[in-house]
Amino acid sequence: MIDYSEYREDSIYGRYITMEILQENCFPKLKVDTIIIGNSVQGIPIPAFTIGQGKHKILMWSQMHGNESTTTKAVWDLVNFIQSRHEIAKIIKEACTLMIVPMLNPDGAKAYTRVNSNQIDLNRDAKNLSQPESVALRTLFQKFEPDFCFNLHDQRTLFSAGSTNKPATVSFLSPASNDQRDITPSREKAMKLIGAMNSLLQKLIPGQVGRYDDGFNDNCVGDTFQMLKVPTVLFEAGHYPNDYEREKTREFIFLAMVEALRTIATDKISDFTINAYFEIPENEKLFFDVLVKNPRVINKEYKEGEKIGVRYKEVLEGSKINFVPEIAEVGELEGFYAHKIIEDADILDLDFNTSHKAVMDLFLPISEK
Ligand SMILES: [Zn+2]
Repeated sequence: MIDYSEYREDSIYGRYITMEILQENCFPKLKVDTIIIGNSVQGIPIPAFTIGQGKHKILMWSQMHGNESTTTKAVWDLVNFIQSRHEIAKIIKEACTLMIVPMLNPDGAKAYTRVNSNQIDLNRDAKNLSQPESVALRTLFQKFEPDFCFNLHDQRTLFSAGSTNKPATVSFLSPASNDQRDITPSREKAMKLIGAMNSLLQKLIPGQVGRYDDGFNDNCVGDTFQMLKVPTVLFEAGHYPNDYEREKTREFIFLAMVEALRTIATDKISDFTINAYFEIPENEKLFFDVLVKNPRVINKEYKEGEKIGVRYKEVLEGSKINFVPEIAEVGELEGFYAHKIIEDADILDLDFNTSHKAVMDLFLPISEK
């Protein structure tokens, strides 16, 4: 058993995690040296470090999308765990060498954007390598020659695990490495590793694990590394009920990573089958953040049976992320779910700031929206 609270890195929390915050709170506690693998467009150094001396080499990077910080928090929880005396930590340290890049896109992290400061999505730059951050990761990949890669991301709140009313709290993908999406040996290994993590997660969050679609895109880093024959796992931290700060999801990502590393360290990958991977339901986009069920109560222009689907937009204000509601869809919205349901459109029940556009919009004639 792992008591998560012992390893949680309490100095970082919430959604806005920058390199400055990591440099202040996390890097000073490291028991190993860091290297600089490159600089961001804005000139911020990008650090990496290794832990463990084992034969299995695992390269992991987080926050290649600047506004996806949950896995960065989980990575530091993992560092605390691996540096501890826990029995599983010892096994991992002896069998594995981890190369960790906690934040690949510090400019995007600072601005809270997916893209880097040239407005380029680094996960669509694997072929061009047009950005310094992309070059830094590729150079590290070539020098380190990993046996496995963990590509660490966040996903939006709209994803359900299949067509169920369960959010995809964690999703995975073993990316394709060609257009035919063949199950190559490296893809197969990544699938089995995902099977191992899923079997743990199903005990903790039953039905809340999803699988990303595997359309091949060689501009994506995961697809490219898989093409270069290195098993690569895409992790996506998603929504857990009432956890917009993603502090609970962070724990599931931590536990999943430990399970993956333990599986690699103990040579147990072949205990799992690719069927275990394909049994994970595919992500679907069935969730709104808020569903207003009978808006006609406050605005007669809405028709009988019509609903309003609201999604939050994440907006950086100062050093905090605000969740600003926006009307995403109006209609019967059959088969959709929501993280919060307003049953009779009682506007006073809406717990967000009423100056927000989506709320004001409810009162406006539909033609003026
Ligand atoms: Zn991402």
